[in-house]
Amino acid sequence: MRRLLPFLLAVPFLVLTAPARAATLPDFDRGITLHPLVQQAMDVAVPGVSAPTPAISPAAAPETVWISILTQDVTALGEEFNFPERKPAGQNGVLSVYELRAAELDRLGDIMQRKFRRSPGFFAHSSLRSAQQDFTLPPLAAAAAYTIDQGEKVSTMLQLVDESSITGMISTLSAYKTRYYRSVTGIAAPKWLYGYWTQLAAGRPDISVATFRHSAFPQESVILTVTGAVEPEKVIVIGGHIDCTSGGADNPAPGADDNASGIAVTNEVLRVLIASGYRPAQTLKFMAFAAEEAGLRGSAEIAAAFKKQGVAVQGMLNLDMANFKGSAQDINFVTDNTNSDQNAFLGKLVDIYTPYTWATFKCGYGCSDHASWTKNGYPASLPFESKMEEYNPAIHTANDTLEQMGGRATHAVKFAKLAVAYMVELAK
Ligand SMILES: [Zn+2]
Repeated sequence: MRRLLPFLLAVPFLVLTAPARAATLPDFDRGITLHPLVQQAMDVAVPGVSAPTPAISPAAAPETVWISILTQDVTALGEEFNFPERKPAGQNGVLSVYELRAAELDRLGDIMQRKFRRSPGFFAHSSLRSAQQDFTLPPLAAAAAYTIDQGEKVSTMLQLVDESSITGMISTLSAYKTRYYRSVTGIAAPKWLYGYWTQLAAGRPDISVATFRHSAFPQESVILTVTGAVEPEKVIVIGGHIDCTSGGADNPAPGADDNASGIAVTNEVLRVLIASGYRPAQTLKFMAFAAEEAGLRGSAEIAAAFKKQGVAVQGMLNLDMANFKGSAQDINFVTDNTNSDQNAFLGKLVDIYTPYTWATFKCGYGCSDHASWTKNGYPASLPFESKMEEYNPAIHTANDTLEQMGGRATHAVKFAKLAVAYMVELAK
Protein backbone atom coordinates (compact mmCIF):
# COMPACT_ATOMS: atom_id res chain seq x y z
CA MET A 1 0.00 0.00 0.00
CA ARG A 2 1.26 3.44 -0.84
CA ARG A 3 0.58 6.55 1.06
CA LEU A 4 2.25 9.87 0.64
CA LEU A 5 3.40 10.85 4.06
CA PRO A 6 3.78 14.50 4.85
CA PHE A 7 7.33 15.44 4.11
CA LEU A 8 8.15 18.42 6.21
CA LEU A 9 11.19 20.17 4.95
CA ALA A 10 10.41 22.93 7.38
CA VAL A 11 11.17 20.63 10.31
CA PRO A 12 14.51 21.75 11.66
CA PHE A 13 17.01 18.93 11.21
CA LEU A 14 18.20 17.32 14.37
CA VAL A 15 21.69 18.41 15.10
CA LEU A 16 23.55 15.36 16.21
CA THR A 17 27.18 15.14 17.00
CA ALA A 18 28.77 12.55 14.77
CA PRO A 19 30.45 9.97 16.98
CA ALA A 20 34.02 10.72 15.91
CA ARG A 21 33.59 14.39 16.62
CA ALA A 22 32.69 13.70 20.23
CA ALA A 23 35.17 15.14 22.65
CA THR A 24 35.97 11.73 24.10
CA LEU A 25 36.75 9.04 21.60
CA PRO A 26 36.48 5.53 22.91
CA ASP A 27 39.82 4.32 24.12
CA PHE A 28 39.72 0.58 23.97
CA ASP A 29 43.35 0.00 23.18
CA ARG A 30 43.93 -1.84 26.39
CA GLY A 31 40.60 -3.53 26.08
CA ILE A 32 39.34 -2.32 29.43
CA THR A 33 38.50 1.38 29.29
CA LEU A 34 34.82 2.00 28.81
CA HIS A 35 33.67 5.02 26.84
CA PRO A 36 31.13 6.99 28.92
CA LEU A 37 28.43 6.26 26.35
CA VAL A 38 29.14 2.55 26.58
CA GLN A 39 28.93 2.72 30.34
CA GLN A 40 25.69 4.64 30.01
CA ALA A 41 24.32 2.07 27.59
CA MET A 42 25.33 -0.74 29.92
CA ASP A 43 23.73 0.99 32.88
CA VAL A 44 20.28 1.31 31.35
CA ALA A 45 17.95 -1.63 31.36
CA VAL A 46 18.59 -3.44 28.11
CA PRO A 47 15.90 -5.97 27.21
CA GLY A 48 17.29 -9.47 27.36
CA VAL A 49 20.63 -8.63 28.94
CA SER A 50 19.85 -8.90 32.63
CA ALA A 51 21.63 -12.23 32.98
CA PRO A 52 25.36 -12.16 33.76
CA THR A 53 27.69 -11.93 30.78
CA PRO A 54 28.93 -15.38 29.81
CA ALA A 55 32.61 -16.27 29.76
CA ILE A 56 34.54 -14.53 27.01
CA SER A 57 37.52 -16.74 26.45
CA PRO A 58 36.94 -19.57 23.96
CA ALA A 59 39.19 -21.73 26.13
CA ALA A 60 36.88 -21.13 29.08
CA ALA A 61 33.90 -22.11 27.00
CA PRO A 62 34.64 -25.34 25.14
CA GLU A 63 31.48 -24.91 23.17
CA THR A 64 30.60 -27.42 20.49
CA VAL A 65 29.35 -26.13 17.16
CA TRP A 66 28.37 -27.76 13.90
CA ILE A 67 29.34 -26.20 10.62
CA SER A 68 27.78 -26.64 7.20
CA ILE A 69 30.32 -26.17 4.43
CA LEU A 70 30.58 -27.02 0.72
CA THR A 71 32.02 -30.52 0.30
CA GLN A 72 34.12 -29.22 -2.61
CA ASP A 73 35.71 -26.67 -0.25
CA VAL A 74 36.54 -29.42 2.24
CA THR A 75 38.20 -31.37 -0.59
CA ALA A 76 40.07 -28.32 -1.89
CA LEU A 77 41.38 -27.50 1.59
CA GLY A 78 42.97 -30.94 1.87
CA GLU A 79 45.39 -30.95 4.81
CA GLU A 80 45.16 -27.18 5.37
CA PHE A 81 42.43 -27.80 7.95
CA ASN A 82 42.17 -31.09 9.78
CA PHE A 83 39.02 -32.24 7.97
CA PRO A 84 40.72 -35.43 6.71
CA GLU A 85 41.06 -36.61 10.36
CA ARG A 86 37.39 -36.01 11.02
CA LYS A 87 34.24 -37.86 10.16
CA PRO A 88 31.45 -35.65 8.82
CA ALA A 89 28.31 -35.66 10.96
CA GLY A 90 26.31 -35.55 7.75
CA GLN A 91 26.79 -35.15 4.02
CA ASN A 92 24.78 -34.81 0.85
CA GLY A 93 25.95 -34.21 -2.72
CA VAL A 94 26.81 -30.60 -2.04
CA LEU A 95 27.25 -29.95 1.68
CA SER A 96 29.09 -31.50 4.59
CA VAL A 97 28.36 -31.02 8.29
CA TYR A 98 31.20 -31.28 10.81
CA GLU A 99 31.34 -31.00 14.58
CA LEU A 100 33.93 -28.47 15.78
CA ARG A 101 34.88 -26.65 18.93
CA ALA A 102 33.93 -22.97 18.77
CA ALA A 103 37.58 -22.10 19.37
CA GLU A 104 38.44 -23.72 16.02
CA LEU A 105 36.17 -21.37 14.06
CA ASP A 106 38.79 -18.61 13.96
CA ARG A 107 41.38 -20.78 12.24
CA LEU A 108 38.85 -22.15 9.78
CA GLY A 109 37.64 -18.61 9.02
CA ASP A 110 41.24 -17.50 8.42
CA ILE A 111 41.96 -20.40 6.10
CA MET A 112 38.70 -19.91 4.17
CA GLN A 113 39.49 -16.24 3.68
CA ARG A 114 43.04 -16.90 2.51
CA LYS A 115 42.14 -19.78 0.24
CA PHE A 116 38.80 -18.68 -1.25
CA ARG A 117 38.65 -14.98 -0.26
CA ARG A 118 35.30 -15.76 1.39
CA SER A 119 34.66 -14.85 4.98
CA PRO A 120 33.42 -16.96 6.55
CA GLY A 121 32.23 -19.22 3.70
CA PHE A 122 30.41 -21.55 6.09
CA PHE A 123 27.55 -21.50 8.59
CA ALA A 124 28.14 -22.31 12.26
CA HIS A 125 25.22 -23.78 14.24
CA SER A 126 24.64 -24.47 17.91
CA SER A 127 22.91 -27.76 17.17
CA LEU A 128 23.37 -30.65 14.76
CA ARG A 129 19.70 -30.39 13.85
CA SER A 130 20.09 -26.80 12.78
CA ALA A 131 23.12 -27.69 10.64
CA GLN A 132 21.25 -30.56 9.01
CA GLN A 133 18.47 -28.17 8.00
CA ASP A 134 20.95 -26.66 5.55
CA PHE A 135 20.59 -29.83 3.48
CA THR A 136 17.10 -28.64 2.56
CA LEU A 137 16.84 -26.03 -0.17
CA PRO A 138 15.58 -22.68 1.12
CA PRO A 139 11.93 -21.88 0.45
CA LEU A 140 11.46 -19.45 -2.41
CA ALA A 141 10.93 -15.90 -1.25
CA ALA A 142 7.58 -14.40 -2.15
CA ALA A 143 8.10 -11.68 -4.75
CA ALA A 144 7.40 -8.18 -3.49
CA ALA A 145 5.82 -5.68 -5.86
CA TYR A 146 8.76 -3.52 -6.88
CA THR A 147 7.65 -0.11 -8.11
CA ILE A 148 9.61 3.14 -8.35
CA ASP A 149 7.45 6.23 -7.94
CA GLN A 150 8.74 8.19 -4.94
CA GLY A 151 11.07 10.42 -6.93
CA GLU A 152 10.52 13.66 -5.10
CA LYS A 153 10.93 12.19 -1.64
CA VAL A 154 13.97 10.07 -2.58
CA SER A 155 15.74 12.98 -4.30
CA THR A 156 15.25 15.25 -1.30
CA MET A 157 16.52 12.62 1.13
CA LEU A 158 19.53 11.75 -1.04
CA GLN A 159 20.74 15.32 -0.64
CA LEU A 160 21.02 14.75 3.11
CA VAL A 161 23.53 11.88 2.81
CA ASP A 162 26.69 13.20 4.44
CA GLU A 163 30.15 11.74 3.94
CA SER A 164 31.54 13.16 7.19
CA SER A 165 28.85 11.39 9.20
CA ILE A 166 29.93 8.10 7.59
CA THR A 167 33.65 8.69 8.23
CA GLY A 168 32.72 9.62 11.82
CA MET A 169 31.07 6.29 12.46
CA ILE A 170 33.88 4.35 10.75
CA SER A 171 36.45 6.18 12.93
CA THR A 172 34.53 5.48 16.11
CA LEU A 173 34.02 1.78 15.47
CA SER A 174 37.54 1.19 14.18
CA ALA A 175 38.97 2.84 17.32
CA TYR A 176 38.08 -0.31 19.28
CA LYS A 177 41.08 -2.59 19.50
CA THR A 178 38.92 -5.32 17.99
CA ARG A 179 35.22 -6.07 17.64
CA TYR A 180 35.92 -9.81 17.71
CA TYR A 181 32.79 -11.54 19.00
CA ARG A 182 34.37 -13.01 22.13
CA SER A 183 36.44 -10.00 23.22
CA VAL A 184 35.71 -7.36 25.85
CA THR A 185 35.81 -4.60 23.23
CA GLY A 186 33.73 -6.73 20.87
CA ILE A 187 31.05 -6.87 23.56
CA ALA A 188 31.34 -3.13 24.24
CA ALA A 189 30.95 -1.98 20.61
CA PRO A 190 27.31 -3.09 20.11
CA LYS A 191 26.47 -1.77 23.59
CA TRP A 192 27.87 1.60 22.52
CA LEU A 193 25.83 1.48 19.28
CA TYR A 194 22.72 0.65 21.31
CA GLY A 195 23.32 3.78 23.38
CA TYR A 196 24.06 5.90 20.33
CA TRP A 197 20.95 4.78 18.46
CA THR A 198 18.85 5.32 21.59
CA GLN A 199 20.03 8.94 21.67
CA LEU A 200 19.47 9.34 17.94
CA ALA A 201 15.87 8.13 18.29
CA ALA A 202 14.96 10.49 21.14
CA GLY A 203 11.72 12.31 20.34
CA ARG A 204 10.47 9.63 17.96
CA PRO A 205 7.94 7.46 19.84
CA ASP A 206 7.65 5.25 16.74
CA ILE A 207 11.32 4.21 17.12
CA SER A 208 12.61 1.69 19.65
CA VAL A 209 16.02 0.10 20.16
CA ALA A 210 16.83 -3.30 21.64
CA THR A 211 19.72 -5.68 21.85
CA PHE A 212 19.36 -9.27 20.70
CA ARG A 213 21.00 -11.61 23.15
CA HIS A 214 22.56 -14.68 21.55
CA SER A 215 22.44 -18.02 23.28
CA ALA A 216 25.96 -19.25 22.61
CA PHE A 217 28.27 -16.22 22.71
CA PRO A 218 28.50 -12.91 24.57
CA GLN A 219 28.42 -10.35 21.74
CA GLU A 220 24.93 -8.98 21.16
CA SER A 221 23.25 -7.82 17.98
CA VAL A 222 21.45 -4.46 17.96
CA ILE A 223 18.02 -3.91 16.40
CA LEU A 224 16.42 -0.48 15.93
CA THR A 225 12.77 -0.59 14.88
CA VAL A 226 10.86 2.19 13.12
CA THR A 227 7.25 1.04 13.37
CA GLY A 228 5.36 1.38 10.10
CA ALA A 229 2.59 3.98 10.08
CA VAL A 230 0.27 2.05 7.75
CA GLU A 231 1.31 -1.61 7.50
CA PRO A 232 3.44 -2.25 10.58
CA GLU A 233 3.29 -6.03 10.15
CA LYS A 234 5.41 -5.75 6.99
CA VAL A 235 9.11 -5.52 7.83
CA ILE A 236 12.17 -4.37 5.88
CA VAL A 237 15.63 -5.14 7.26
CA ILE A 238 18.70 -3.00 6.57
CA GLY A 239 22.00 -3.83 8.25
CA GLY A 240 25.36 -5.51 8.41
CA HIS A 241 27.74 -7.16 10.83
CA ILE A 242 29.40 -5.21 13.62
CA ASP A 243 32.01 -7.82 14.55
CA CYS A 244 35.41 -8.14 12.92
CA THR A 245 38.46 -10.31 13.24
CA SER A 246 42.11 -10.66 12.48
CA GLY A 247 42.32 -14.15 13.83
CA GLY A 248 41.35 -14.00 17.51
CA ALA A 249 40.54 -11.91 20.53
CA ASP A 250 44.09 -10.63 21.12
CA ASN A 251 44.99 -9.32 17.66
CA PRO A 252 44.33 -5.68 16.76
CA ALA A 253 41.49 -5.61 14.23
CA PRO A 254 40.17 -2.14 13.39
CA GLY A 255 37.80 -3.60 10.78
CA ALA A 256 37.21 -0.17 9.21
CA ASP A 257 36.09 -1.56 5.86
CA ASP A 258 35.00 -4.99 7.15
CA ASN A 259 32.61 -3.95 8.47
CA ALA A 260 32.54 -0.57 10.22
CA SER A 261 31.74 0.76 6.73
CA GLY A 262 28.53 -1.30 6.51
CA ILE A 263 27.39 -0.20 9.97
CA ALA A 264 28.26 3.41 9.05
CA VAL A 265 26.11 3.16 5.91
CA THR A 266 23.26 1.60 7.93
CA ASN A 267 23.59 4.39 10.50
CA GLU A 268 23.60 7.04 7.76
CA VAL A 269 20.30 5.76 6.32
CA LEU A 270 18.82 5.95 9.81
CA ARG A 271 20.25 9.42 10.38
CA VAL A 272 18.74 10.67 7.10
CA LEU A 273 15.40 9.06 8.02
CA ILE A 274 15.32 10.96 11.31
CA ALA A 275 16.73 14.23 9.95
CA SER A 276 14.04 14.35 7.27
CA GLY A 277 11.17 13.41 9.55
CA TYR A 278 10.42 10.43 7.30
CA ARG A 279 7.76 8.03 8.58
CA PRO A 280 7.62 4.79 6.60
CA ALA A 281 4.32 3.02 5.86
CA GLN A 282 5.97 -0.34 6.60
CA THR A 283 8.19 -1.22 9.54
CA LEU A 284 11.94 -0.75 9.15
CA LYS A 285 14.47 -2.67 11.21
CA PHE A 286 18.06 -1.46 11.24
CA MET A 287 20.39 -4.19 12.45
CA ALA A 288 23.98 -4.64 13.55
CA PHE A 289 24.71 -8.39 13.52
CA ALA A 290 27.04 -10.12 15.96
CA ALA A 291 29.49 -12.89 15.07
CA GLU A 292 29.33 -12.88 11.27
CA GLU A 293 32.99 -13.81 10.98
CA ALA A 294 32.41 -16.90 13.14
CA GLY A 295 29.94 -18.47 10.70
CA LEU A 296 27.10 -15.93 10.25
CA ARG A 297 25.95 -16.79 13.76
CA GLY A 298 24.20 -13.55 14.74
CA SER A 299 22.14 -13.09 11.60
CA ALA A 300 21.34 -16.81 11.43
CA GLU A 301 19.80 -16.79 14.90
CA ILE A 302 17.79 -13.60 14.22
CA ALA A 303 16.54 -14.66 10.77
CA ALA A 304 15.52 -18.08 12.13
CA ALA A 305 13.68 -16.40 15.04
CA PHE A 306 11.86 -14.12 12.60
CA LYS A 307 10.82 -17.07 10.46
CA LYS A 308 9.64 -19.01 13.51
CA GLN A 309 7.55 -16.04 14.62
CA GLY A 310 6.15 -15.64 11.10
CA VAL A 311 7.53 -12.13 10.63
CA ALA A 312 6.65 -10.90 7.12
CA VAL A 313 10.07 -9.66 5.97
CA GLN A 314 9.56 -7.93 2.60
CA GLY A 315 13.21 -7.41 1.91
CA MET A 316 16.67 -7.52 3.48
CA LEU A 317 19.58 -5.32 2.41
CA ASN A 318 22.95 -6.56 3.66
CA LEU A 319 25.71 -3.96 3.89
CA ASP A 320 29.09 -5.67 4.24
CA MET A 321 32.19 -3.75 3.01
CA ALA A 322 31.31 -0.53 1.22
CA ASN A 323 34.34 1.75 1.26
CA PHE A 324 37.06 0.32 -0.99
CA LYS A 325 36.66 0.89 -4.72
CA GLY A 326 38.51 -2.07 -6.16
CA SER A 327 36.60 -2.53 -9.41
CA ALA A 328 35.63 -0.44 -12.42
CA GLN A 329 31.96 -0.45 -11.44
CA ASP A 330 30.80 1.35 -8.30
CA ILE A 331 28.30 -1.14 -6.87
CA ASN A 332 28.61 -4.89 -7.34
CA PHE A 333 25.59 -7.10 -6.63
CA VAL A 334 26.02 -10.67 -5.45
CA THR A 335 23.89 -12.96 -7.62
CA ASP A 336 24.07 -16.21 -5.62
CA ASN A 337 22.14 -16.83 -2.39
CA THR A 338 20.30 -13.56 -3.04
CA ASN A 339 16.93 -12.69 -4.58
CA SER A 340 17.15 -11.91 -8.30
CA ASP A 341 13.96 -9.79 -8.37
CA GLN A 342 15.20 -7.63 -5.52
CA ASN A 343 18.66 -7.40 -7.14
CA ALA A 344 17.05 -6.17 -10.39
CA PHE A 345 15.05 -3.61 -8.38
CA LEU A 346 18.25 -2.36 -6.74
CA GLY A 347 19.97 -2.07 -10.13
CA LYS A 348 17.06 0.08 -11.37
CA LEU A 349 17.33 2.27 -8.27
CA VAL A 350 21.02 2.87 -9.04
CA ASP A 351 20.16 3.75 -12.67
CA ILE A 352 17.28 6.06 -11.81
CA TYR A 353 18.55 7.85 -8.71
CA THR A 354 22.34 7.92 -8.99
CA PRO A 355 25.12 8.53 -11.54
CA TYR A 356 26.84 5.31 -10.44
CA THR A 357 27.60 2.13 -12.39
CA TRP A 358 26.93 -1.42 -11.26
CA ALA A 359 27.84 -5.00 -12.10
CA THR A 360 27.20 -8.48 -10.70
CA PHE A 361 29.34 -11.34 -9.42
CA LYS A 362 29.12 -14.59 -7.45
CA CYS A 363 30.25 -14.60 -3.85
CA GLY A 364 29.94 -18.30 -2.92
CA TYR A 365 28.44 -20.32 -0.09
CA GLY A 366 27.91 -18.67 3.30
CA CYS A 367 29.59 -15.47 2.15
CA SER A 368 27.81 -12.95 4.37
CA ASP A 369 24.66 -12.25 6.41
CA HIS A 370 22.27 -12.06 3.44
CA ALA A 371 22.67 -15.86 3.23
CA SER A 372 20.98 -16.24 6.63
CA TRP A 373 17.90 -14.39 5.40
CA THR A 374 17.83 -16.19 2.05
CA LYS A 375 18.01 -19.50 3.92
CA ASN A 376 14.88 -18.57 5.84
CA GLY A 377 12.91 -17.71 2.70
CA TYR A 378 13.31 -13.94 2.74
CA PRO A 379 14.39 -11.82 -0.26
CA ALA A 380 17.92 -10.58 0.49
CA SER A 381 20.67 -8.75 -1.44
CA LEU A 382 24.28 -7.70 -0.99
CA PRO A 383 25.54 -4.63 -2.84
CA PHE A 384 29.33 -5.01 -2.45
CA GLU A 385 32.29 -2.65 -2.81
CA SER A 386 33.93 -4.54 -5.70
CA LYS A 387 34.06 -7.79 -7.60
CA MET A 388 35.09 -10.77 -5.50
CA GLU A 389 38.72 -10.89 -6.59
CA GLU A 390 39.18 -7.13 -6.24
CA TYR A 391 38.04 -6.37 -2.70
CA ASN A 392 40.08 -4.56 -0.07
CA PRO A 393 43.26 -6.63 0.50
CA ALA A 394 43.68 -5.21 4.02
CA ILE A 395 40.60 -6.83 5.59
CA HIS A 396 41.17 -9.19 8.52
CA THR A 397 44.48 -7.45 9.27
CA ALA A 398 45.59 -4.61 11.54
CA ASN A 399 45.75 -2.44 8.39
CA ASP A 400 42.00 -2.37 7.74
CA THR A 401 41.83 1.31 8.72
CA LEU A 402 40.11 4.42 7.42
CA GLU A 403 43.54 5.85 6.57
CA GLN A 404 44.27 2.85 4.36
CA MET A 405 41.08 3.86 2.44
CA GLY A 406 42.33 7.41 1.99
CA GLY A 407 40.63 8.79 5.10
CA ARG A 408 37.44 9.33 3.12
CA ALA A 409 34.07 7.62 2.67
CA THR A 410 33.35 8.63 -0.93
CA HIS A 411 32.69 5.03 -1.94
CA ALA A 412 30.44 4.28 1.05
CA VAL A 413 28.33 7.35 0.21
CA LYS A 414 27.15 5.51 -2.95
CA PHE A 415 25.86 2.63 -0.85
CA ALA A 416 24.12 4.99 1.58
CA LYS A 417 22.30 6.65 -1.33
CA LEU A 418 21.25 3.31 -2.76
CA ALA A 419 20.02 2.16 0.66
CA VAL A 420 17.99 5.35 1.17
CA ALA A 421 16.31 4.87 -2.23
CA TYR A 422 15.67 1.20 -1.39
CA MET A 423 14.10 2.10 1.93
CA VAL A 424 11.75 4.77 0.57
CA GLU A 425 10.64 2.81 -2.52
CA LEU A 426 10.05 -0.43 -0.58
CA ALA A 427 8.60 0.81 2.72
CA LYS A 428 5.86 2.91 1.08
ZN1 LIG B 1 32.36 -8.66 6.41
